[in-house]
Formats: sequence, C-alpha cells, structure tokens
Amino acid sequence: MATLKDFRNNVKPNWCPGCGDFSVQASIQRAAANLGLEPEQLAIVSGIGCSGRISGYINAYGFHGTHGRALPIAQGLKMANRDLTVVAAGGDGDGFAIGMGHTIHAIRRNIDITYIVMDNQIYGLTKGQPSPRSAEGFKTKGAPHGAIETALAPLELALAAGATFVAQSFSSNLKQLTSLIEQAINHKGFAFLNVFSPCVTFNKINTYDWFKQNIVEIDDIPDYDPSNRAMAMMKLMETNGMLTGLIYQDTNKKSYADMVTGFKEEPLAHQDLKISEEDFDKL
Ligand code: SF4
Ligand code: MG
Repeated sequence: MATLKDFRNNVKPNWCPGCGDFSVQASIQRAAANLGLEPEQLAIVSGIGCSGRISGYINAYGFHGTHGRALPIAQGLKMANRDLTVVAAGGDGDGFAIGMGHTIHAIRRNIDITYIVMDNQIYGLTKGQPSPRSAEGFKTKGAPHGAIETALAPLELALAAGATFVAQSFSSNLKQLTSLIEQAINHKGFAFLNVFSPCVTFNKINTYDWFKQNIVEIDDIPDYDPSNRAMAMMKLMETNGMLTGLIYQDTNKKSYADMVTGFKEEPLAHQDLKISEEDFDKL
C-alpha cells in the first residue's frame, strides 16, 4: 500500500519560502495516503498561477492546464475514467475570474471531483494585482488607488449554485485541511474546498496573522448543522466568509454520472461508444 513518500517526487517547488501552497501540496499527499490511494489512482489537474504548479509537485497523474480551464479538463477526465480520483486545483484568480463560468457550472453539474482553490486574495504570479477576492480598497503597486470592485464571496456563490459540498480551511491548519481534503474526495459529487493560502511576497495585508485573527472555526459555533443550507449561508454572511470547516454537505443528491441515462458502470474510456443507426433514429 502506498505511503506518504510515494506521493512525493523529486521536483523542487519554486514557490517563495513561506507560501501557503506548500501546505496544500503536503495535505493533498497526506490525504491521498490516508485514503489508501495509489499514485496511479490519483490525477491532479491545475490551472495557471503560482498555485497551478502543484500538479507537477505530486507523484500522481498531473495535467497543468490553461488559465481558468482546470475544471473542464478535470470533469472530462473523470467522465472518461471514473476509476480515477480527480482533484482540480488552482488559485482565486484562476477559478474566480477567467474560470468563474466553469466554476459555477461545474458546481451545479455535480461531477464527482474535488476542487481546491488556493485563495491568497491576490494575483501572485503576475506580481500582485488585486484578484476577485481582494477586498475593496486593497492597495498594491499594481493598483495604488485600491481595488474598486466588491470582493467575491465564493462560498455563498457555491451554495447559491447548488453545491453539494462546501468547505473552507487555512494552510496553517494542516490537520483540518487534510481531513477536509479526505472528506471532499470521499464525497460523491463535486466538492468545493476554498483554502486561505497566504502569498507572503505580494499580499502584505492578508497575512498568516491576519487570517489567524479573522478566521471563525465552525467547531466554535454551537449546534452548527452542515446539512442545513440556510444556516450555512447565514453563518457565512455573519462571518464575512471567514468560516472554516465543513460548511455544507448534501449526501442525498446523486452525482452527474449517476443521473446520465444509460451511462454504464465501466469507465467511459473502456466503452464502445458507437451507437447503432436504429438507436440514433430513436433519439
Ligand atoms: Fe506563493 Fe505569492 Fe510567492 Fe506566488 S508570489 S509563490 S503565491 S508567495
Ligand atoms: Mg491568487
């Protein structure tokens, strides 16, 4: 059986020392080992951005896709070979700006994959422009007068889009992060996990200390019920989106593959996809 070291390769990450993405990488590797996966059963599909490099740093199948397009690739991969555990990963710029159309529709499509967003509230790779997650007034060298747009609330958006699994964590909290990745992979449907992953080089506002001061742990909310969508929405709004833990899970809704008429049990890649003329005429 594979152990943690089997998910490591010899590629040295070129993230800045202290970048939150290191912990996300380590947590995916640990979760995969804890779940008893083998490297050849796991595929990591990433987009573009500092975080997009993650697919090259884990010993598993890896696909470094194009900007904002990790999700179409990941969904196609899962539909073609459902034996694979598919994890899509990217940044807040990748997933919530150019990729937002894919993110919303992937959520409502509910294909059985995991989507991890490394949310540092900035564009790191291009040296610090405000991202859709940057707060109004957020100043960088690239936006000296401050961001004008309202910051996006991705978890509320996910709930509104019909998400069946919504969670949030912090890259400093390895125990929680690893556990949530395991739960996300085990979830039968699209699992959305937003991770506060500080950019230590360009974001001098949303630092490790800032997150520690502002995060609200779900475990500290009495009688929180993660199956209650209205409660999830209310608590997210009350905490300005800073809630961490398993925020919402619907275990009753079937995944996309379970809903497709005639979708056979064996992976699509192994099927004869030809359709007879007679069957075609009936369509
Ligand atoms: Fe991480 Fe920011 Fe460095 Fe990119 S620029 S590797 S996000 S710390
Ligand atoms: Mg970013």
